[in-house]
Amino acid sequence: MSINWFPGHMNSTRQAIKDRVKAGLDVVIELLDARLPGSSSNPLLAALTTGRPSLKVLNKQDLADAAQTAAWLDFYNAQPHTRAIPLDAGEKTPARALIKACRELAPLRGDIHKPLRVLICGIPNVGKSTLINTLVGKRAAKTGDEPGITKLEQKFVLENGFYLFDTPGMLWPRISIEQSGYNLAASGAIGRNAFDEEEVALELITTLKRRYPEQLQARYGLTELGAEDAVLEAIGLKRGAKVRGGAVQMHKAAEALLIDYRQGLLGRITLETPDEMAAWRREAAEDEARKAAERDAAQAAEKVKRNGRRKASSGEA
Ligand code: GDP
Repeated sequence: MSINWFPGHMNSTRQAIKDRVKAGLDVVIELLDARLPGSSSNPLLAALTTGRPSLKVLNKQDLADAAQTAAWLDFYNAQPHTRAIPLDAGEKTPARALIKACRELAPLRGDIHKPLRVLICGIPNVGKSTLINTLVGKRAAKTGDEPGITKLEQKFVLENGFYLFDTPGMLWPRISIEQSGYNLAASGAIGRNAFDEEEVALELITTLKRRYPEQLQARYGLTELGAEDAVLEAIGLKRGAKVRGGAVQMHKAAEALLIDYRQGLLGRITLETPDEMAAWRREAAEDEARKAAERDAAQAAEKVKRNGRRKASSGEA
């Protein structure tokens, strides 16, 4: 799938993160979408924060499959210097679990003399603003006043010796895994004009048929699940996506399904498992390696051809 989406502010965000690392950083919070905890993660972040301990917050867990959230928590908790917790950003009391996990990741910091400096990051729409509002309440944000720190960085004092930093803009990885693109689009993380809703809805139906068929049937009163486009058409019929004359407008049906999914009306659904994600990553890496090898071979062949032409035109044998 092609995603025509240009991540604005990407370079300034990278720079802001680098500046924060230089100025002092003890823990990185990466906010993930619990419905797609692999695809919503950004591999660049670990590289930029050079191995700082990481807290993965699986947000929107109220929309995700609880058993899958448990599997993803185990997956991330098994990684070195990493801890993972589930969260609903709008909850009244997420602060305690989050602060406790950060303190455990950096036990030597966290008093007034050696404050614990925590950076929060996440892809668009993952719930960062909601979480910060819940954590900070009415407390005012201070903008960066340390030398070398962008004025746009915000600093919140959550409690004595606990500073939360928020960088402007978003980090967005190159989406090299096709299924990640579909899952991100279905979740609402990508602007709607940047992808084909029908294509994304058909992919979503494939996943739902495989993993949550009963929920799909129950939501739309379907007695059976046929091919993807037939299911989408049936959804369109139920959701009033018909034009005059009776035909279903497939893009309207697609839109209806995506809205329902995002609002949790199909129930709690997670789009990917840790094993699937690992397999997709492997396939994407193999694919990249194959393409690079093909590119190299084409360049080498082109060079041989050029040399041949040069020799011929200079009269060499
Ligand atoms: P940001 O782009 O990361 O700052 O995301 P926002 O904080 O603006 O949230 C994006 C949308 O997700 C909003 O409609 C929020 O109400 C919703 N949202 C955020 N956190 C949660 C959550 O834990 N559960 C659910 N169901 N919705 C959430």
